Amino acid sequence: MTVQQKMKTLTHFIKGEEVAGTSGRFSDVYNPTTGETIARVPLASKDEVQQAIQQAKEAFPAWKKMSIGKRVEVVHRFRQLLVTKQEELIEVICQESGKTKEDAKGEIIRGIESVDMAISAPQLLKGEYSVNVGGNINAFSAKSPLGVVATIAPFNFPVMVPLAITSMAVAVGNAVILKPSERVPHSALFLSQLWKEAGLPDGIWTVVNGDKEAVNELLENKEIQAISFVGSTPVAEYIYQTGTKHNKRVAAFGGGKNFMIVMPDANLEQTANAFLGAAYGAASQRCMAISGALVVGQDTEQRFTDILKQKISQLKIGPYTEDDVDFGPVISQQSKETIISYIDGAVTEGANLVIDGRNPKVCETSNGFYVGPTLLNNITPDMTIFKEEVFGPARIVVGVETLQEAIELINDHELGNGVTMFTSSGAAARKFQEEIEVGMVGVNVPIPIPVGYHNFGGWKRSKFGEGHMFGPDQARFFTKAKTISERWPDEMEDATSSFAFPSNNDAKS
Ligand code: NAD
Repeated sequence: MTVQQKMKTLTHFIKGEEVAGTSGRFSDVYNPTTGETIARVPLASKDEVQQAIQQAKEAFPAWKKMSIGKRVEVVHRFRQLLVTKQEELIEVICQESGKTKEDAKGEIIRGIESVDMAISAPQLLKGEYSVNVGGNINAFSAKSPLGVVATIAPFNFPVMVPLAITSMAVAVGNAVILKPSERVPHSALFLSQLWKEAGLPDGIWTVVNGDKEAVNELLENKEIQAISFVGSTPVAEYIYQTGTKHNKRVAAFGGGKNFMIVMPDANLEQTANAFLGAAYGAASQRCMAISGALVVGQDTEQRFTDILKQKISQLKIGPYTEDDVDFGPVISQQSKETIISYIDGAVTEGANLVIDGRNPKVCETSNGFYVGPTLLNNITPDMTIFKEEVFGPARIVVGVETLQEAIELINDHELGNGVTMFTSSGAAARKFQEEIEVGMVGVNVPIPIPVGYHNFGGWKRSKFGEGHMFGPDQARFFTKAKTISERWPDEMEDATSSFAFPSNNDAKS
């Protein structure tokens, strides 16, 4: 049997069923650990997306009408399934993303935090009520779901990002269409089965696999009320501009260049340990990964670089099937080549290679997409490797003279997702927190990703549009407010008409 014959052909998930693609277009899905093609995923045509939207639209009114308590029961059952099927899900994530099992487990746990937040939807949907605002009128505001909403997700969190966005959208009464990354479609299809088993009505959760053609239909179709996108900055900007042009509510989360400021008074051993996990974990394929250290003072820079050099040389990369691996491969051969070209480019621009991970030794026979941990110093802010997000394990050390200089470099950067600082000075930490122009800020915390019940989102070109991931803001993003004024007059009232604009003057008492 040839590889082509063995290869699994995946489906979409529409109206509660796996539906074969009909466009005739497919994309290969890889196991990054071995480099093998493990499946092919259909790329939906405009027509297929329209049909999926129609099914979602038909399912929406009944779901909207269902009591919030009943809706949340379904979300709760879905949560239980995520827990009981965790081991299977870990395997699915690892196989298509190359993450270590520990990392995949962390992703699921963070995803479940968002589901917990969605279970608190009844609390978040409570409206406001005012009695007797005038003339026996009571006024109240209520939050209604939007209708059919779409989520477009990246490859690097095949489960956490879809859960972070869609759980609340479902709980507050919308019908959701997920367009996962074509590089990690198995995880989204696995989640679809869990929703079905949890009893979610058909059509409320849809997965359309696809590429730009499917995305464009979601952006332009008048039935889609809101788009939540997570991915790279250029695509986020395109999604925001196109979606808003078509009158949709859009939140588009982009890339990051997240620095760790290292102060001379920091415990350098502890700080280096924090740097390693935050910078290289998941092969640096996290939007909140630490991209580089901004080290204050020449002596500190030298000592910190020496400690990192020694620690990085002990990191182990390899397949997720081995337990003691620190991180695995990057997502694709193309991604590996892009990362290596960033390293080559930096060296050409004058950077110094402290540790070179371009040709890592993993195992003689492995064709996986591995890039070893790489560290560069002698970096200046005009270099490409300083200015652009590198989505792979090439990290930098930049020397600065003062905290002020570090803050200014970060504030001048076009991206503003996350930042952290390691110090033992409260005064320095306060200055940093007050002056830094970044959305998510840490002090002595390696990755300042907020917990599920706080809002998540970057600043500057790391986020376009209003709205956050995680957190209570999700309930606002996926609902619209309706304000109702009601009065039930007695038979004796309203014997005449009033032509004045309604005001407190009309009040009968
Ligand atoms: P990507 O932008 O290539 O793809 C994201 C999604 O957009 C995918 O579903 C993809 O199919 C679709 N897409 C890609 N190109 C498109 C185009 N031209 N038109 C329409 N749709 C398109 O991102 P990725 O490589 O999958 O993910 C990595 C990126 O995501 C990194 O930049 C990372 O920082 C970012 N990210 C950001 C966050 C955040 O919260 N800010 C979280 C995770 C990942």
